[in-house]
Amino acid sequence: MTVTRFAPSPNGPLHLGHAFSAIVAHDLAKAQGGRFLLRIEDIDGARSRPGLAGEFRADLAWLGLEWDEMPAQSTRLAFYAEAAERLRSEGVLYPCRCTRAQIVAAATKVGPDGPVYPGTCRGASFAAEGDVAWRLDTAEALRRTGPLTWRDELAGEQAARPELLGDVVLVRKEPETPASYHLAVTIDDAADGVTLVTRGMDLFPATHIHRLLQALLGLPVPTWHHHPLLLDETGHKLAKRRGSAGAGFGLADRRRAGEDGRVRADSLRAGRLPAGVTLSSGLENRP
Ligand SMILES: [Zn+2]
Repeated sequence: MTVTRFAPSPNGPLHLGHAFSAIVAHDLAKAQGGRFLLRIEDIDGARSRPGLAGEFRADLAWLGLEWDEMPAQSTRLAFYAEAAERLRSEGVLYPCRCTRAQIVAAATKVGPDGPVYPGTCRGASFAAEGDVAWRLDTAEALRRTGPLTWRDELAGEQAARPELLGDVVLVRKEPETPASYHLAVTIDDAADGVTLVTRGMDLFPATHIHRLLQALLGLPVPTWHHHPLLLDETGHKLAKRRGSAGAGFGLADRRRAGEDGRVRADSLRAGRLPAGVTLSSGLENRP
């Protein structure tokens, strides 16, 4: 059975880009008689606003979507800690005390998420106490697993290249947000039985890391579907941090203003977008 999910973080209101992503996931599951899941990714520390989860449910219902809700991330911290401990005991994690500024200054490569960590603390010996992050020793991990592949429904078979992102953080310094996105989402998707991970194509590179984590942790391997993104008139993707929800693209505002959400959802399905919004070209069109 096809199981997809939509996994928003309650750190700001949803916008049309989220609606598009949720509809893609919902429709892919329902077309196969499968399940569409909602999971609230609420471990974003101080930025998390618990009240927003209720707004998200109202937004999805407004769009005419039906879902099953899975446990929120904040209920799963023990599982993340357990996975981190396992990776630590297997010697593929190492502590890092570098600040963001130090990493930017020392980095020699820029990856899809910005400067690639230059490995400063790899092999260093210091007491891993207090404010340390734990990073994945990507090269060592890949040496143990051997070459890995994964499949995107649109872009086809991929060789896993976690080195593109380098030694990413799996356990963050901030005790209130212990697991990084990479660790939490990999464990959650396995725990929720997700068979088709749908998300924006901006997360395509992160999948190289997630595939490696699945191999290290012995988790099932889903298929991925990285869909195109809704772009604003400047060519940037609609994003909470760019204030897209407040720029006329917010779902809750449209819902409260009396817009018909099901009509909006059908428009998004048909590629009819509001003025100022375009759809990026997809991965299947890339050279
Ligand atoms: Zn470091």
